[in-house]
Amino acid sequence: MSWSLKEAMKRTGMLKEGHFLLSSGRHSRQYLQCALLLQYPHDAEQTGRELASLFQDEAIDVVVGPALGGVIIAHEVARALNVRCLFTERKNGEMQLRRGFTIQPNERVLIIEDVVTTGGSVREVIDVLQGMQANIVGIGSIFNRSGREDLFGELPYRALQTIEIESQLPEECPLCKQGIPVVKPGSRTS
Ligand code: ZN
Repeated sequence: MSWSLKEAMKRTGMLKEGHFLLSSGRHSRQYLQCALLLQYPHDAEQTGRELASLFQDEAIDVVVGPALGGVIIAHEVARALNVRCLFTERKNGEMQLRRGFTIQPNERVLIIEDVVTTGGSVREVIDVLQGMQANIVGIGSIFNRSGREDLFGELPYRALQTIEIESQLPEECPLCKQGIPVVKPGSRTS
């Protein structure tokens, strides 16, 4: 059987059901835990190949992902494109390219993230790269949760899968009304 993202999502249980506190402060019944998909190197590699194929004609020189969520998938996309992979990370809250990573002016850069919700981390990476005169060719993510495709203006944005996750303000949350405890994803059990 050929590999498919939908099958891998189901098999790895990455779309969690429960009562979750999202980073936006809203509550939801579902949460995407990409680490559960990417824990399997074969699934990570196949996901990277599919995502890379969306940009195969762009003559990418380097892939950049924001830590932590973007690191594994950026690496797999870079493997598929046979180019180098860098990551940005926050120091004192500020997104930076550290560890001796460099980008030459006009190098063709692809930004890769696991899930795009508001696009905040990606915008911080864009700022870092523009400061280095990099040529940002596009942005890719496994999942697009933003409900938009023009999230980054002129820069092309492509995702493998669009996902809608309903959420409510805490005071309107039916699960809170039922007294079900809310869980912050990223904890030991989620
Ligand atoms: Zn709730």
